[in-house]
Amino acid sequence: MNVATFLARTALRSPTDPALLLGTTALHDWRSLASRAARLAHGLRDRLGTGPGDRVAIWATNCPQYLELLHAIWWVGAIAVPVNAKLHPSELAWILSNCGAQALFVSDEPADAGAGPWPRTVRIGSAEYEALLAEAPAAMHEAAPTDGAWLFYTSGTTGRPKGVTITHRNLLAMTACFFTDVDAASAADASVYGAAMSHGAGLYALPYVLRGARHVVPESGGFDPAELIALSRSVGRLSMFAAPTMVGRLVDAISSTDADPSGFRTIVYGGGPMYVEDIRRALDVMGNRFVQIYGQGETPMTITALSRETIADRAHPRWLDRLASVGTAQALVEVRVADPQGRTLPPGETGEVLVRGETVMAGYWDNPQATATTLRDGWLWTGDLGALDADGFLTLKDRSKDMVISGGSNVYPREVEEVLLQHPAVREVSVVGAPDPEWGESVVAFVVADGDPRALPEALDALCLARIARFKRPKRYLFVDALPKNHYGKVLKTELRARLAAGA
Ligand code: AMP
Repeated sequence: MNVATFLARTALRSPTDPALLLGTTALHDWRSLASRAARLAHGLRDRLGTGPGDRVAIWATNCPQYLELLHAIWWVGAIAVPVNAKLHPSELAWILSNCGAQALFVSDEPADAGAGPWPRTVRIGSAEYEALLAEAPAAMHEAAPTDGAWLFYTSGTTGRPKGVTITHRNLLAMTACFFTDVDAASAADASVYGAAMSHGAGLYALPYVLRGARHVVPESGGFDPAELIALSRSVGRLSMFAAPTMVGRLVDAISSTDADPSGFRTIVYGGGPMYVEDIRRALDVMGNRFVQIYGQGETPMTITALSRETIADRAHPRWLDRLASVGTAQALVEVRVADPQGRTLPPGETGEVLVRGETVMAGYWDNPQATATTLRDGWLWTGDLGALDADGFLTLKDRSKDMVISGGSNVYPREVEEVLLQHPAVREVSVVGAPDPEWGESVVAFVVADGDPRALPEALDALCLARIARFKRPKRYLFVDALPKNHYGKVLKTELRARLAAGA
């Protein structure tokens, strides 16, 4: 089944219901949105020569055309390659050549792009773009379950990004898991795109298309807490996917303006660690509106989920442990924690997180070597370290490469970060290992502090000594104005390590 069937179906069922808004302005109902996608599919096929299996890249900020474009690409059986709009043109060029893109849609012409060859490029919203919609709707291509639908370039906190081939079946299974493990959705709801549609927020458009919810693209095309708060008042029942850093900014804005959070229905957070102190604050300010997911491009949005009910269950004796976890396996996947030989470890022991199921990628694009190391014996090796508890809740430690080995003992940075964040003057923190002649590696904390940090090291040491083993305590605190982050808000630990190596 082609995943674009969701759109066709909703258009038949609810043709005149509102489908797409730009800010508060209604642009299309479902009949109009589906018709645009099917006509654009015709234009892709006949004017651009796009056929089944071709890769069509989208390098655009969130815009109202994003949804119709994704669906038009699927409609002709091609593979969408959504690329983060914040990437440098040279990074875009690398992705285009890696996947052999047949066409490229952009919000702005890439400046400073360097040498080609560039595929045929169309600016979204231009006269050329609208001309692609001039013909009659095309018939939908029948997709096989294993056909690629979305080529998802990993965010590349290390090395070159790899293209994950996400199939139609993967997306259908992801949608089913959304309804079993994350949230319900209805026509009364509004899916708002504060986070990049080239990533999780765009993937999670699908369940809302199937249910015929309203899709709201903020006029800024990005994440602006004040704009989202205004939309929560005017549009209402907003649901959104947000990285933990975005949740923090939204919570700050709501708390500092005393805004009413009731126009937000659900905030699904994931994509990076959410610290216990931060989610507790979010709950205090916004109430029970949160669901956590843990996934990766290789099994999109679908490894575990921590439900709204569990997050809200303050009376549970292990509530804080559960808040620190990423929840339990989603319905259609098996999750286990294994040693390097692939043997399942008992509850409480830390190992690599392995996943198997309908949502797991077909493999990396044109990279059989990386595919073979990541998909082994039918299991996806996530590269994340974690431990399951006796109740099936998974707590992530870190990416395996981020673990610090100091004096022969493993230190999981996340654990140290959780403790340091309990100090009220610590706004953000990231812990990494620095080469150390005596210990192999030593623990170093990069800290963004509120106010004068001079007295902080002593206070942070005392906090660590009271909470965690002595060997985990940072040997050094480095105070910085901000942590380096990638375009999705993930802290670039590789860069922090490079700074240490360079003697910063
Ligand atoms: P990406 O493929 O770019 O979406 O990155 C996926 C990676 O982000 C995962 O392998 C994890 O390391 C991290 N990640 C995703 N969700 C969570 C979460 N809820 N908590 C902690 N880390 C997460």
